[in-house]
Amino acid sequence: MTNERKRSPIESDEPSKRVKTLMGHDHISSSSSSSSSNSDNSSSRISISSSSHSSHNRVNQQEEESFNNDNNNNETIDNSCSNHDDDKARREIPPPQIIDTPEPNVNKLIYGKYEIEAWYYSPYPTEFGSKIDRLYVCEYCLRYMNKETQLESHKAICKEKKPPGRMIYANGKIKVYEVDGQEHKLYCQSLCLLAKLFLDNKTLYYDVEGFKFYVLAEQNSKFKSYEELIGFFSKEKLSYDNYNLACIMTLPSHQRKGFGTLLIELSYELSKHEGKVGSPEKPLSYLGALGYQSYWASAILATLLHFRGDVTIEQISKETCIHEQDVIDTLSRLDLLRFRKKDQDRDHICITENMLNETINTRNIKIARKIDPSLIRWK
Ligand SMILES: [Zn+2]
Repeated sequence: MTNERKRSPIESDEPSKRVKTLMGHDHISSSSSSSSSNSDNSSSRISISSSSHSSHNRVNQQEEESFNNDNNNNETIDNSCSNHDDDKARREIPPPQIIDTPEPNVNKLIYGKYEIEAWYYSPYPTEFGSKIDRLYVCEYCLRYMNKETQLESHKAICKEKKPPGRMIYANGKIKVYEVDGQEHKLYCQSLCLLAKLFLDNKTLYYDVEGFKFYVLAEQNSKFKSYEELIGFFSKEKLSYDNYNLACIMTLPSHQRKGFGTLLIELSYELSKHEGKVGSPEKPLSYLGALGYQSYWASAILATLLHFRGDVTIEQISKETCIHEQDVIDTLSRLDLLRFRKKDQDRDHICITENMLNETINTRNIKIARKIDPSLIRWK
């Protein structure tokens, strides 16, 4: 049995507001490279310089020491680059704030072998009463009941052993199913009600037809043919704003195991497959925001580590399918927009390889992927 502690309702940050002023001015460029893209005058540029590619860059000693403690190689940066004071405010993670939400109406969720304390209100049927002491949910079909005897009767006749829909990913015990909200309406509605117990932000409950649900399941260690839902994300079938994720949730019993990151990674693999840049719907929950900040940092730094020379924000965005605004926000939060120089009336941001490695080490950023894209089963 697992008892999870209740968390405070928290508001997420809104990166799009915080970094808006950066769009259209910033440039990322490198000292020398055959891959530089000087023809692109409108997009932002970052400069990645390293020992073998920075012979004509110079940095004054004081600035270099501020970001390069070992200071024993010849990485350089143009001495016209300067610290940018207003980046500091933008990279802060906003403090949790209590928001006005109804009291949780469920005391305990009984889900398989887990007993989980609910965090937030979820609109379960009124006939269950205004306060549900113990809510029983079948971990295979997600039917919900408020009596243990009902669950026992249900388990005796329930034929489901795994989520519905098409399996699109399998790696060991972990499976992901693509579930169409129209084809499996009741399952998806039950999933949304379950998710709301752990999500403070508004989510859909009944109008599920326009969405696909990517359901993460884990194979039961005793009964191999059984697979239990442990998390999911939903995605609009047609999003005019190019949102690649509407709602994401990992059950508290399975949090801190990297499943949230796996789901976020999968959402971007789907975007890459569609050839579209995407972004999650805002506002994000507090845990959702932390998950995204972690993924964006990892994916963007992994991409920058491979670049030598000029690279634009647009290129990073195309490579990762992460929205330009999210790229800028992440670089700002990681304090990688510190050094700037003017070049032909454009602002360039200079990032050295040492700055990248130091950021990865000091912030303990994991570059390794949770998803193996070669295991995704496209139609
Ligand atoms: Zn069932």
